[in-house]
Amino acid sequence: MQRIKIKDKEFKISIRAEEIANAVKQVASQINRDYEGKDPVFLSVLNGSYVFAADLLRHIKGPCRISFVKLSSYSGTTTTSHVKELIGLNEDIQGKDVIILEDIIDTGITVDRLLEEVKKRNPASIRIACFCYKPEAFQKNFHIDYIGMKIPNKFIVGYGLDYDGYGRNLPHIYEVVD
Ligand code: 5GP
Ligand code: MG
Repeated sequence: MQRIKIKDKEFKISIRAEEIANAVKQVASQINRDYEGKDPVFLSVLNGSYVFAADLLRHIKGPCRISFVKLSSYSGTTTTSHVKELIGLNEDIQGKDVIILEDIIDTGITVDRLLEEVKKRNPASIRIACFCYKPEAFQKNFHIDYIGMKIPNKFIVGYGLDYDGYGRNLPHIYEVVD
């Protein structure tokens, strides 16, 4: 399937499943090398990263744990106060080596916010792994330790990523046709 339609948008194939699988293995082997003898805790950021996390973890060799976290937005007492709270973290990460798993880093705002929350819990170290990274869209200055693929600044779906809730099940990654 070269082209697909989701709701009002058309998408064309961008990264095939085999290429995705190779990139995931690359990331895993770097993590295996860097964390040999350690016992890291992965924090998979829902919703999008569940597919990447499931694939990656099966290539991780040493002992490790995983928690699925989410940044929930809720409005505070005034319309302008918009707080993002970290939910779902059920591991104690104090003194642990944490690896954040993101499906995609675009502007970097989400991970920047997440880093703030994770740092408050005093882990021994924090590293970031993302499957896709859009260098042209990135606005922050944190270092991304592991990158599956660098991609152009186009909206993509598939491999866990959605368009309005749809498309997460697609094994390939598709980019929007505009
Ligand atoms: P950021 O905060 O880095 O701008 O974006 C983070 C979140 O926006 C990602 O975790 C993802 O949920 C969503 N996002 C960014 N770019 C894309 C994209 O191209 N496709 C989809 N489906 N979601 C995206
Ligand atoms: Mg995400």
